[in-house]
Amino acid sequence: MKKISLTHQILFALIFGIIFGVIANAFFPLPFNNEVSKWVLVPLGKMFINGIKMLVVPLVLCSLICGAASIGDIRKLGRVGGKIFVFYLATTAAAVSLALILANLIDPGIGTSLAAMGKEFKAVQAPFVMDIFTNMIPTNPIESLVKGDMLQIIFFAIIFGIAMTMLGEKTKPLFNTINQINEVLLKIIGLIMVTAPIGVFALISNVIMFQGIAVLLPLIKYALTIVLGLIVQVVFVYGIFLRVLGKVNPIYFFKKFWPVMTVAFSTSSSNATIPINLEVCEKKLGVPKPIASFTIPFGATVNMDGTAIMQGVATIFLAQLYGVNLNFQSMLMIILTATLASIGTAGVPGAGMVMLSMVLLQVGIPVEGIPIILSIDRILDMMRTVVNVTGDAVGTVIVANSEKELNLIAYNNEIESEAAM
Ligand code: ASP
Repeated sequence: MKKISLTHQILFALIFGIIFGVIANAFFPLPFNNEVSKWVLVPLGKMFINGIKMLVVPLVLCSLICGAASIGDIRKLGRVGGKIFVFYLATTAAAVSLALILANLIDPGIGTSLAAMGKEFKAVQAPFVMDIFTNMIPTNPIESLVKGDMLQIIFFAIIFGIAMTMLGEKTKPLFNTINQINEVLLKIIGLIMVTAPIGVFALISNVIMFQGIAVLLPLIKYALTIVLGLIVQVVFVYGIFLRVLGKVNPIYFFKKFWPVMTVAFSTSSSNATIPINLEVCEKKLGVPKPIASFTIPFGATVNMDGTAIMQGVATIFLAQLYGVNLNFQSMLMIILTATLASIGTAGVPGAGMVMLSMVLLQVGIPVEGIPIILSIDRILDMMRTVVNVTGDAVGTVIVANSEKELNLIAYNNEIESEAAM
């Protein structure tokens, strides 16, 4: 019998998970679902996610240090960093603008009744915008590692790598050691990914079986506006960028990238997707390690186009619900704050909702509206996370090619290699 590849196993797991969830939701009694969830699905899903999360902090640290150190020359590091940062900012601002255009055309909040459905939302104090930047510099890097504060870890790792480069030959043994640790971590990811089909099945079915269709109905216009925005961003914006800026065939990109999308979809976490995203960029898409190991963790933290789309649509939706008039100036304000908010959003499930309050406060829309959309946010979170991580890889491929370092033979090679998974 032909062995089914791991990437296909993950896809089947996703599909079976959705089917199982829908059936359980429609036909099985709630107490039964609760037990299945408690004893089987939650533990299996948690084991998988914990396994990946276990690697995120050490992997980001080691791969960024190696990445920054092996780019070799500091000017080049600055150039790659500058390009990717501009790309991430520009695509995020484009994503919010797209969301605003769609939301103004579709008017998701008109004709929807203002009934706070379900969940509680603790309005968190939105951070002061400048704090996002000052807090990037850790006062205690060990604490940043323990807390898993990605921006701080990134900052420290890059400085560390730069300093290693400046010291040159002397630090070669240290570089080799960190590089070897990196290899070991990547090997562990390979081992954990073998269990991905089970993890993905458990995570997906556990969400779907408690998320009936009923909750979707009053918010269907809102959800569809977001989904439409996400699709346009992936297919058109990224597709065109890959073609025009990256000068590569977008179809190959998506053919090789979809396993990363399934992991993003089932974990709802850009951070948890870093390991597999790195693997696919390096091994399948032909991005050199020094570039990917820098741009992917950075993107997972600062670049969230999907989240920005949700924030744009949610803002217009709630403005319409509450009858708040938004003029052109407020729209510009939304673009600015949503772009900054997406930089400050952590790559973990549900984080985008927290940062939404920052955008709402800026334009005077009551944050009390957040519980209304919270009821369907889990599913939308899964979808926007897919877009978040796709944007990181698209930027990575484009920047690598602009540096003439993309391995086009690997990129254009259609043969599916199992090595990356
Ligand atoms: N879950 C998203 C991510 O990890 C963040 C969000 O909530 O929008 O990319």
